[in-house]
Amino acid sequence: MQYPRNILQPVFDYLKKLETDLLHRKKSLAKEDPFADASRLNDNASDDTEAAEQFGHAQSAALGEETSDALKRVRGAMDRVDDGTYGKCIKCGEMINTDRLGIDPTAEMCMDCAKNVK
Ligand SMILES: [Zn+2]
Repeated sequence: MQYPRNILQPVFDYLKKLETDLLHRKKSLAKEDPFADASRLNDNASDDTEAAEQFGHAQSAALGEETSDALKRVRGAMDRVDDGTYGKCIKCGEMINTDRLGIDPTAEMCMDCAKNVK
């Protein structure tokens, strides 16, 4: 069984929007990263500033990674809409509970398989 494409269209649109949002977030994160500020190379920053920059960079990097992961999941889901496997567990091939997909449209595994992974 698989979902007809027309039923998945709103899901696809939603995923597309998520993708756009995530790309925006990625861009603004890159801008917020103190290490992206070229002028800092020239200033004689105090140790305090240096530490704050290190922290800011670590935070930006962590958020960036999170965003990249989310982006990967969103794109994976969009691919599955395209090839007609959306809603099917990538592990066991069973249909994923629609409530679960409602909560996380990027879910790629059924509840049971997801439980076994974690
Ligand atoms: Zn499964």
